[in-house]
Amino acid sequence: MQLDLIGFTKRFDGTPVVSGMDLSVASGEMIALLGPSGCGKSTTLFAICGIHRIDEGRLMFGERDVSGLPSQRRNVGVVFQNYALYPHMSVFDNIAFPLKVQKADKDQIRRRVGEMAELVHIETLLDRRPAQLSGGQQQRVALARALVRNPDVLLLDEPLANLDAKLRLEMRSEIRRIQQETGLTAILVTHDQVEAMSMCDRIALMNNGRIVQIDGPTRMYRDPMDKFVASFLGNPP
Ligand code: ADP
Ligand code: MG
Repeated sequence: MQLDLIGFTKRFDGTPVVSGMDLSVASGEMIALLGPSGCGKSTTLFAICGIHRIDEGRLMFGERDVSGLPSQRRNVGVVFQNYALYPHMSVFDNIAFPLKVQKADKDQIRRRVGEMAELVHIETLLDRRPAQLSGGQQQRVALARALVRNPDVLLLDEPLANLDAKLRLEMRSEIRRIQQETGLTAILVTHDQVEAMSMCDRIALMNNGRIVQIDGPTRMYRDPMDKFVASFLGNPP
């Protein structure tokens, strides 16, 4: 589903941390919100998923204005850096949780959890607890849980930051594969330019609460709009 953020502004204690941001993500597109620490990436993501109120501006999912809706009433799937799995529940119950909240019936839950486990390749792990999984496996479970309700958008906040180098590489291509197989519209928040370039269709590079440049990875690397973009991408003029 197409996502449009129009004139989004967020203030904390009167200080704007995101100022008048416009962002359009096409249906089925994966876009990176890239930029240095503190530039407003997570704040933007939290506003899209409904954790933060939108002070000014509008958020559209397709033709629907969801700006005023609480997070439970926006159909978004979210994956955080620390996975945020429920430690006392099995993998099955973690993935099933959003469906149980919706009061889906048992057969439907079993079928859907099975589909998700197959998609993220954790069919054999459904009886385990999160503590009995590797970081990469935990991240797969978090993805399955985020996808189980077939969300309008998938939001990923630094999903690879807690993984070691080898797993990070593996999960880069796995997340991209899963996004492409499901055809979901996705936003990846990251401070790592290589991650953004290798995983996403386009990159929105942010600085100080604004988007400085938005382009495809190759275009942005070859044709940076200013010195900030060039040096952030490691391609100074
Ligand atoms: P990023 O994800 O790009 O590293 P954030 O969006 O988390 O950055 O933060 C942007 C700015 O907003 C930072 O200066 C941060 O300190 C500030 N900020 C984030 N959350 C809050 C909050 N709940 N209250 C006050 N300031 C916040
Ligand atoms: Mg952040």
